[in-house]
Amino acid sequence: MSQAIVFSQTGGPDVLSLQSLPLGKIGPGQVHLRHTAIGVNFIDTYQRSGLYPTPLPSGLGSEAAGVVAAVGEGVSWLKPGDRVAYAGGPLGAYCDERIIDARHLLRLPDGIDDEAAACMMLQGMTVEYLVQRCSPLRPGMTVLWHAAAGGVGQIAVQWLRAMGVTVIGTVGSEEKAALARELGCPHVINYRSEDVAARVREITGGQGVPVVYDSVGKDTFEISLACLAPRGIFVSFGNASGAVPAFAPLELTSRGSLFFTRPKLGDYIASRAELEASAQALFQRVLDGAIRIAPSHRYPLAEAARAHRDLEARRTTGSLILLP
Ligand code: NDP
Repeated sequence: MSQAIVFSQTGGPDVLSLQSLPLGKIGPGQVHLRHTAIGVNFIDTYQRSGLYPTPLPSGLGSEAAGVVAAVGEGVSWLKPGDRVAYAGGPLGAYCDERIIDARHLLRLPDGIDDEAAACMMLQGMTVEYLVQRCSPLRPGMTVLWHAAAGGVGQIAVQWLRAMGVTVIGTVGSEEKAALARELGCPHVINYRSEDVAARVREITGGQGVPVVYDSVGKDTFEISLACLAPRGIFVSFGNASGAVPAFAPLELTSRGSLFFTRPKLGDYIASRAELEASAQALFQRVLDGAIRIAPSHRYPLAEAARAHRDLEARRTTGSLILLP
């Protein structure tokens, strides 16, 4: 049996409950995995709330680290005892053990512990594709990153600094501002109390930025548009405050021939080769010491609802994990 968080209706964190479920049989190409740490991501709240519809009843969670307990037929590259991690595959990472297709798994290097792995796969590979493949960046550029003290935000600030890109980060509190500065963000704006567009123009000598990375969504959409330089790129990659409303393409013309993209990780790690390349780039940055990643908040698996409440109430910084 597996202890798993499940939900049979969408709604607030209270729809989540811990249940004992049959583990099922291991099939060809599959692995029986014992989780040691599980990543909590904002996307989990969209699936739970119904913003991203999913067939119900459903498990939850897309990311974890663990130890291989057994391998199915045809899985020759893994053996019991191997340490692995993943981001993606069917929902259901919020559990102590599961059967999962081996193609989602990545072997963990010795220098990366399970807790760090559980909070870096999804957020770290997201940063990899956003800064290395989604938008053309060069050293010396200055970009705007919203929610810079969050899970994805903290990794992004460090990665961009390592690339020689200057980050203007937005945050929702003074405590988060201090954290973002400490991680290497030379310009931090509290978007609850300051005029972000005015500050960005001031910092960039009136130019605006060539790229805005916006995962806050509804509340920052207009602000992000106002911060872009002509021919700049609006990378809209999340909806923490709600989905971005529909807008007319002519809006992009009138602001200076802007580009708009709404990317998701799955499309940037769609092939096994892309998945491995993204993970290796991330592991390398961590092993080199350019990026430090560790969970800021730990919860027992049974308290997944509390983790969601904290995340949605903007009480967290960095990454959250569940411990089975
Ligand atoms: P975070 O740790 O960044 O948490 C979200 C943060 O958003 C909060 O801490 C808060 O920071 C800020 N925020 C602003 N307004 C709100 C609001 N109304 N409600 C809640 N939070 C708000 O989460 P993650 O690191 O897990 O994810 C960050 C974003 O990246 C999410 O939007 C997620 O969906 C997206 N994402 C997208 C991916 C993709 O491929 N497209 C992949 C992975 C993540 P503050 O208090 O400083 O404002």
